[in-house]
Amino acid sequence: MTGQVPLVDYLVLGDQPHLSANECTQCGARFFGRRNACANCSATEFATATVATEGIVRAFTIVAFAAPGVPVPFVAAVVDCDGTSVRANIVNTPPDPEHVTLGMKVQLTTFPLGVDTAGVEAIGFGFEPQPAK
Ligand SMILES: [Zn+2]
Repeated sequence: MTGQVPLVDYLVLGDQPHLSANECTQCGARFFGRRNACANCSATEFATATVATEGIVRAFTIVAFAAPGVPVPFVAAVVDCDGTSVRANIVNTPPDPEHVTLGMKVQLTTFPLGVDTAGVEAIGFGFEPQPAK
């Protein structure tokens, strides 16, 4: 029996993969990954919030140089998912300014990163352009 594990613990796999954020119960600020206190208001109570899987590119950088073994260029972006900022790469489109633009509508996508010796597949995520409607 093999399985899949998400690369980061805030990526929730399943029929409809999505990101899960910790939302401050006091001010509503959202964070990815474990936090002991809210960076915004210092409260310590969090609730789990499901992040929208569709978003808009708010900022991006075309990365031309990276560590050995990392394919370049790639597009590192900040995506606004219905008010939650998500840092992720833009995938499934050519990494150039003609195909990646500010305000572009994108959607969450997941992809396998590799399989370990136990047969467990690691799953990463990125955002791809939304299909034309
Ligand atoms: Zn807060």
